[in-house]
Amino acid sequence: MQESLDVLAIGTHPDDLEITCGGTLVLLANCEYRVGAADLTAGELGTRGSAEIRAQETANASRVLKLCVRENLNIPDGNIENTLENRLRVIRLIRRYRPRLLMIPHWEERHYDHVRASLLLAEAAFQSGLPKIETGQACFRPFRTLYYQGRMGMRPSFVVDISATFDAKMQAILSYRSQFHNSAGSGALDDADEPQTMISTAYALEVIEANCRYYGAMIGARYGEPFLLKESLEISDPVAFFRQIPDTKQAHVFPAL
Ligand SMILES: [Zn+2]
Repeated sequence: MQESLDVLAIGTHPDDLEITCGGTLVLLANCEYRVGAADLTAGELGTRGSAEIRAQETANASRVLKLCVRENLNIPDGNIENTLENRLRVIRLIRRYRPRLLMIPHWEERHYDHVRASLLLAEAAFQSGLPKIETGQACFRPFRTLYYQGRMGMRPSFVVDISATFDAKMQAILSYRSQFHNSAGSGALDDADEPQTMISTAYALEVIEANCRYYGAMIGARYGEPFLLKESLEISDPVAFFRQIPDTKQAHVFPAL
């Protein structure tokens, strides 16, 4: 069975990927690329829900995102350190799935787990290409590491138009019924039963939508997800590269202007 992936996205906690790059993941899956994901922790320190509930929610969200695989590296939540042991867990994952593109969290973040995860993952991606780091697998380094946005904004290297997959992204987010506000309420944890968090209110869902609107506006799309490359982008033929972007985009999105 083919295991190699075109894209591997790694999040710190279950639901991070859905919030930050879920629209892009399902867009790429719709393009027939092999897209997989992994979470560093089971989110057991989260204020609401439990690791068991979140595992089921993650499985539901992964189906919405059409992921080929969704792994969990079982690093203890709240104790994400850039140690050799943790890097080896990530290196084994990267060497197993050999993704062309790797997506990891941006290093500027409110939550320190994300800050630490960013450095751990970036270093593991680099070391995965070093043959003398032994895991019993062939060494492999992803062609590019793309940073997705956290709660702090960033000036992106590029923005993916997720207008066509925004609804799927929100559906994947709402699979985490223990974490997010649920106005329908059917079968979900009652909001009154658990403490409120930064993402458990209706306002939080509006913020996610506004954020996608904000980055979408940068490219004349209804919704967008931003990514950052640390390296400069090598383009051998700028004419062909930019020809992929339709000239009519602004007129299409804002017909009255
Ligand atoms: Zn997180």
